[in-house]
Parts: sequence; structure tokens; C-alpha cells
Amino acid sequence: MSKEGKEGNRVRESCVLNGAITELWNLIRPFTFHSMPSVFQSVQIVEGSLGEANSVCTITYANGDSERVRITSMNEANHTVRYEVLGTESRVICRRSLLLLPVSEKRQVFVEFISQYPGVIPLKDFIDEQLKKRTFFKALRVALSASDESAPWDCPNCNTQNPPSFNISCGMCKKRNFNRGIKWHAVQYHWATIKGEQRVESAPFELVGHQWRLLLFPRGLEPDQGSVGAFLNALDLPDGMELPCEFFIRVVHPQEIHAVKGLGGEHSQTHVAEWGFTRREFDRGFGRVVEQHQVEPHFLTKDGMFTIQVGIAPKKRQVHG
Ligand SMILES: [Zn+2]
Repeated sequence: MSKEGKEGNRVRESCVLNGAITELWNLIRPFTFHSMPSVFQSVQIVEGSLGEANSVCTITYANGDSERVRITSMNEANHTVRYEVLGTESRVICRRSLLLLPVSEKRQVFVEFISQYPGVIPLKDFIDEQLKKRTFFKALRVALSASDESAPWDCPNCNTQNPPSFNISCGMCKKRNFNRGIKWHAVQYHWATIKGEQRVESAPFELVGHQWRLLLFPRGLEPDQGSVGAFLNALDLPDGMELPCEFFIRVVHPQEIHAVKGLGGEHSQTHVAEWGFTRREFDRGFGRVVEQHQVEPHFLTKDGMFTIQVGIAPKKRQVHG
């Protein structure tokens, strides 16, 4: 094939974004794109687990268009995703690859997005594909700015620029931005081992600069109540300190195990509450995070693991006067 022919069926766009490569990878790796609502409406799993190689899903874009895609490789070490866009009867329409590369010695990432078509594509489609890639980069830039407390951030819902702060709600549209300020931690349990226990304490873990523990009641708070309870304990708050926050406890569906951000996930169950944790009032959670009879059929991985995810978004106290 001639060089010209090769260029004619390949659309390549790249950009440089400010941020750490791990933050950027965390926005892409789950393959749910919750943090980019200006481009993506939803990602529905068809086969396998979201974000896993060989899984098939349907991506619905914000403009209503949809595509069925198969992930062919998800390379954690090289920060690279490759996937095929499938047409009817699973014919491959194009192959896309998205690569992240750190720009040496700076908190910057080089992002490359390539679509490779089996044949030469019309100029109109070529330009359309280029524009889509640029729109994707723009949404990625907005999502990335959300996790930096010291920088202004753009609201993904209404595009208003918000001043640097701890706030997770937009000053204009008041909607919560779930990529902002929330830190997550996952705890996994071998369900067959713990399901008969009254209470199970997790190992301590660190989130937002403090130590926490998850307390699970696999048989419920009251015996034979039929539901699983989960509570978050703050372990190291000094006397006189209050940590006001929104906290999240999520029962993770195995297909959504990599969907670690936001409230999304069609099958996982997320519970949210507001609480000011203190040394005395250190224990807060939900008596019912999932029904016991649902755990085995719906919420275990192939290895029998049950996953609970904990999220914390601290809120700055309003200063009066
Ligand atoms: Zn807004």
C-alpha cells in the first residue's frame, strides 16, 4: 500500500493536557466516561465486564448517536486502550487506539487518539472524525480540571468556570460534580468466608488525609433482618475536630468493578449521606446496603468476591462574618 493510501484511512489527533498521567488514566480506564457528560450519555455493557479486554459495550453519545464497540486491549502499564467499532454482524468498521504518554519532567500528558479504517474514507467523514476527537480532548481537559482543588474548574453540566475551592457543587447550576473532591477506596470480601459472621472489620485505610475502617454486617444489624449493613468509622480525628463530608457506600456489581468514579453504574447500588465525623460521632452508615439474597446471584465476581466501595467528599465549613 502506498503512503498516501495509508494516510487516507487513518485519522490521528493529539494534544497535551496538564495533569498527572494516573489522574488522566483514571478518567479513561473505567470506560464509563461519567465525567464527560458533554460527549457521552451512557455506556451499556453487552458482553463481559466494563473496561475489560474482549468486553463489548454500546456507547451512546450526548447527541444521541451510538456505537457498539469491543475493547481489544486495555494496557495499564502503557496507558493504552484499543477498541474496535462494530457494525451489523460484528463487522469491524474501524479500530481506535487511545494512548497516553507522560511529557518528561512535567505534570503534562501527551494524548494521541487514532482511528484506522479498513478502506479509504470520504473527506466529510474524515473531518467529522477529526472534530469528534477534538471535542473529546476538550471534555477530557474539563474532567481533569475537576480534581484539582487549587485551580478553577469548569462545570461539566453548564460550562461555568468555578473558582478554586473544595466545593463539589457548581455555583451556577448547583449540580454536584462527582469527579470533584471525592476519594474512593474499595474493600473486597470473600463472601463464602464472611457471610456467617455478625460483624467484619476491614483493615484501616487512608482517605482525604485520615484513617478509616469499613464495618460490615453480613447478616444484618438485627439477626434475620435479611439485609447487609455497612458503616464507615473515622479512626483518627482529634478532639474538637469535625470533618463535615458527603460519604458514599457502594455495593459494586462485578461488571462495573473498574467504574470507580461518580455515582454511575447501572447495576451497582450507591448510598449517599451527609455527616460531620468527630472523635465521638465517628460511626455512620446504612443498615441496608443490599438484600442478603441478592448478593450471591448478582454481586459476586467469578472468584466469589464481594466488593464494597467507600467514597468521601469533604465539605469546607461556611465561614460567617
Ligand atoms: Zn454548572
